[in-house]
Formats: sequence, C-alpha cells, structure tokens
Amino acid sequence: MGLYRQSRFKHPDSEERRAHWMSHIASCAVLFAGAACMMIAPSVSAQAKDAEPATRQAHAEVLRSLPFADRADFDEAQRGFIASWPDGLVLGDGQRVVWSMQPYAFQQKAEAPATVNPSLWRQAQLGNFHGLFKVTDRVYQVRGLDDSNMTIVESDAGLIVIDTLLSAETAKASMELYYQNRARKPVVAVVFTHSHADHFGGVKGVVSEDDVRAGRVKIFAPDHFTEHAVGESIIVGNALRRRGMYQFGLLLPPGERGQVDAGHGKTASRGTVTWITPTDLVKDSYEMRNIDGVDIEFHLVPGSEAPAEMTLYFPQFKVLDMAEDTNHTMHNLYTLRGAEVRDARLWSRYIGEALDRYGDRTEALIAQHQWPTWGGERIATFLKRQRDVYKFIHDQSVRLLNHGYTPNEIAEIVQMPASLANVWSTRGYYGTLSHNAKAVYQKYLGWYDANPANLSPLPPVEQARKAVEYMGGADAVIMRAHADFKAGHYRWVASVMNQVVFADPTNRKARELGADALEQLGYQSEAATWRNAYLMGAMELRSGVPTLPAVSAFSRDMLQAVSIDLVFDFLAVRLNAEMAEGKTMVINWTFTDTGDKFIVNLENSALTHLSGKLAAKADAGITLTRATLDAILLKQKTLPDAIRAGEITVEGDPGKLGELIGMLDEFALGFPIVEPKQANR
Ligand SMILES: [Zn+2]
Repeated sequence: MGLYRQSRFKHPDSEERRAHWMSHIASCAVLFAGAACMMIAPSVSAQAKDAEPATRQAHAEVLRSLPFADRADFDEAQRGFIASWPDGLVLGDGQRVVWSMQPYAFQQKAEAPATVNPSLWRQAQLGNFHGLFKVTDRVYQVRGLDDSNMTIVESDAGLIVIDTLLSAETAKASMELYYQNRARKPVVAVVFTHSHADHFGGVKGVVSEDDVRAGRVKIFAPDHFTEHAVGESIIVGNALRRRGMYQFGLLLPPGERGQVDAGHGKTASRGTVTWITPTDLVKDSYEMRNIDGVDIEFHLVPGSEAPAEMTLYFPQFKVLDMAEDTNHTMHNLYTLRGAEVRDARLWSRYIGEALDRYGDRTEALIAQHQWPTWGGERIATFLKRQRDVYKFIHDQSVRLLNHGYTPNEIAEIVQMPASLANVWSTRGYYGTLSHNAKAVYQKYLGWYDANPANLSPLPPVEQARKAVEYMGGADAVIMRAHADFKAGHYRWVASVMNQVVFADPTNRKARELGADALEQLGYQSEAATWRNAYLMGAMELRSGVPTLPAVSAFSRDMLQAVSIDLVFDFLAVRLNAEMAEGKTMVINWTFTDTGDKFIVNLENSALTHLSGKLAAKADAGITLTRATLDAILLKQKTLPDAIRAGEITVEGDPGKLGELIGMLDEFALGFPIVEPKQANR
C-alpha cells in the first residue's frame, strides 16, 4: 500500500490485519479537528510484542489495589437496554464501515490480557454496551454507536435530540434505531451541549438544513458556540489532526496489543462530519426554556470542558444532563492532541453549583459520554467526586508550584487522596493526574520552569548528538539501556533511546529498543490516551513515519461557519517567511455576495488584514464571491481556473495574487514525531 516509506517489518498475519484495517481505519480524524473526512490507507501493525515480566507485575498490583468486585457500573451501563444494531454496525456510502463494535469482540474475555492494564480493560468493557437505552420515562439515550451519546427526549408532539454524535451516518442510524422501537415523531429541536465535533458533527443525520431554515426545527447551543466549534480546528488543524492520531491511536489496529479504547468512548466514527448553524443561543448563566411542553433549565458552563458548553436540567423528569462536565473518568485539563488548557477551578465550581441546585431533585444523572447514574445518593456522591477531582488537582498543583516545584516534579509528587484514588469514576482513563497537573502549571506559568538552563537549550538533534557522544557513543548507550529494559525501567529507556534516535534516526537497534520500551509503557498505561500514544510511537519507530494523504483543512459543511476573517488568519499562518523576505504587497478583496471588504497587507514577512476597508493605493484588487473562495479552499477548483472562468476578477497587477499564493506553505499531515524532522520547512 506504500503507507510507510520503509516497511521493514511485516506481521505474520499482515494481510488479515490489513483487511481488518480497511474497515476500521478508513478514517475521519475530525473528532479533534473538525476537518474533512479522510481516508487513511491501512497499515500493518509492525511486530507488536508480548508483555514483559515488569509489566505483568505492575498489572498484578493493579488487580490487588482496585475494587474490581464493585460491579455497579456494569449494572448501570446495561440498565434500560432496549435494542441495538448487530455488532453496532453502521455502514456509509458504498458499504463503507463507519462504525462497528465487532473489532472489539476480543474484549469479551473476563480477564485482562497481559498486554492491557486490567483497569483499562474494565473501562473498555464498560464501553462495549451499545444501543438504545431507556433512562426514565420520556428520556432515552443511544450509546456505543459512536464515541459520544445521543440523548432523545420525548416532547409533547415530537422529539428533542441532545447532541448528534460525530458523523451523520451514526446519527442517522441512531435515530432509526429509536424509531424502530418508539413512535416515529418528528424532531422539533436539537441541542448542542458544546463546541466539540463529536457532539454536533452528525446533525444532518438528524435534521435537514431546510427544516432548520424554515423554522420547523430549532437548534439550541451555548453562547459563542460557532466561533469555538470552528476556531480550534482551523489555525492549528494540521498539527491537531496528526497529534490526534496519537491520542486516539487511529493508526493502531484494535487488539490486545493495539487499540482497546479511547477512555470515555471506543474510538471516533469514520463518517461524514456535517454542520448546521444553531438558531437559538443560550446567553444567560441559567435560562429556563419550554420546548414543546418540556421544561429545560440550561446552565452555561463556559471554559470548563469546552470553551462553549452548557448542562441541562429537566424538572419534570428529574433528570440532569451534565453534558461532558462529568464523566466516568478523570477528564483532560490538557488534551494530548494539543489544545488550550482548561480551567480546573471553574470546572469544579460548575459541578459544585449543579450539585447544589439540582442534587436533591435529580433521580437520573446523564451525560453525553458513557452511562447514567441513578438514585439521589449515588448521584450526589458521584458529583462530589467529580467536583473534587478537578479542585484537588488544581489546588495541589498550585500549592506545589508556589513551593517552587516544576511541572515534571509536580506530576511525580502529587498523589490522589485515597478517597478519590480508589474510585472508578475518578481514575484516569482519558485525562491523567500526571498530565493534568502539568496543565495547571501551564495555565498559570506557561512553558518556562524559570531554570535558565532550560531557557534556551540546544534543539533536540544537537542536544541528542552531544549527549550520546558524552555518554560514550550509541553502542555504549544501547548496551546499558538493554540492562535497564530488563530491569523494567521503561520510562528511562524510552527517553534515552529517543536521544539516540534523534542523534541518528537510522540506528535500528535504538529504534527497536525505544519501541520496545514505549510498548511496555503502553501496555502498563491505565489511560487509553497514553496507551494509544505510546503504541503509536512504538509503531512509528519500527515502521517509519506514515505517508498520509494531503487533506483539506476544512470540511465543506464546516467551512460555512468559518468567517472570512478567520480564513485570512489561516492563510497568514501558512506564509513562508523566507519566501516573503523583503516583499511588500497590498491587495484589496471585495466579496460581492457577502458585501465584505478587506485590505490584505504583506510587509516584514507578516500577512495582516483589516476588515471593512479597501486601500486607496493597492497593488491589486480582487473581486469574487465567498462561494468561489470556499471552492478554492476545498481544492474543488484552482485559482487560475476561477480567474479563467471569470469568477475572480483582478484589477491592477494580475501577477500579485499568484505571487502571494506561491508564498503559502502546504502542510503535510504525516510529519515525524518520534524521529527528527526532515528539511521540510
Ligand atoms: Zn465529547
């Protein structure tokens, strides 16, 4: 398939795995980037190895220390089950598998294999229940047919759908599953709880844009929803997509030695991400609405799990929907795919407010990932723990940083109190105490630990070459690292082999030993996200950097929601400074359909723009429609074609626009992570 530049290893059952991959990995890496659906060629899992004795020992300790006899979560995850699709299978166009639980059938074994942390194995099993579930009268959920949940509330004349999953295909299949088991009533309203794509991307599988435009369906969302839904994914979209592959293990085949879970869902569905702009924004901290006979109190919780988010309370049903602010896992204050850090203090406060306001009148607590919690006492306990896990991490990390400790030290020192440490719902399957503690430091103090030795160290390759040379050369380092590997010191071996690989990426022994160490770390990880990251790193050390297809940074649907202003910002971050050296340029842009005007200015190798104006003296003036700009951004047509077709008219110097476009970089998705970059800047 040529996915890898060097396919040095072939797994014995590679053909079988490849076929399996075809169905599993053809992928939409949009969960984290909101971008176009892309196909990733299947890969071969290169030589995944067995668990080492130290890993088995670590797992035995997990089995001893955690309350595996407590099976209440399994009861709640299955409670109210009505029906599902066989194997949870959802097909897209041309019988493409968009979602299937069949690849996870290996998780039916009660006992965790030696290559999976038993706590993660338990969490993965809890994520395997899929289908339509009744929460209480008039409140239903579809779970396990995508990474997230769809909640369906039966209103007087129709349905209110809360969150529409990531893909239109899984959303449509979820509605169909509901209709096969309940009355076929029209959707009267959709609610997006927050600005992450796994909560709105499937909207066109639930309602049509025509129905929304005609006012037959309202779409409710928290204030500032649109700008955050698209903002995060555009400017840094390429890096997010690549890093997201590590977080979700998107190139790993599911299996005992591969991907087992995503931490609070199985994986991302691989369908079509769609967009319809919300019609009704919730702007007050608490807002009571009546939608078709159903009272809903919205509670805005901005700056918690997402920059725009809200929870919902249903007084008639005594149901509280905490969106994604409470989960059966510690969530992320920082996500490994890369994102701005979240505010643990605020997040905790919102949960505390919800507990205070709704705690004594809630009989079922639901969320937009994972299973519900029933019963006043269980709900209160659950909410308190969720409230406190984030407050604890925040306060203790800040306490330690005020004592002068730095991120790596804080991550090592801070330990959960026993009352939270041995509770399933606050274990780190998605976020971890380690990286969340560092996130708190980052929020307040940023990347610099104040030690000037770390102010401007040599970059990785130079640093690694010197270090390896000082340590007596690569062979000496590898020999000693083998002994450390045998002793189970995987963190150190992974780190020191990383140096040898950066000093010389062709050193096969270093790549192999580094991969072996990352793999054992992956097997030991309780967090699905860490496991995925470690195993992706191991795979790429063994097989090389994947060659991934170039994809558009935008999905056609989501491009609608992107302001022209943001498009110009996105073009500006593609400016190649070396090519722009010494050049100046002023270009006027006039959009005939939207009436927008912009001056774009190139000067000092920086591209800036000013909206609402045209320059009196410009090198060129471009007149076009937004639709034409979108078509070019989606690579549906080229700039010269659009000019030839008369869709773009240019006044002044006709060469200027082409010159500017020629200075913009294209970003390659498959950039190296576990080895040095090529000269590709
Ligand atoms: Zn989500």
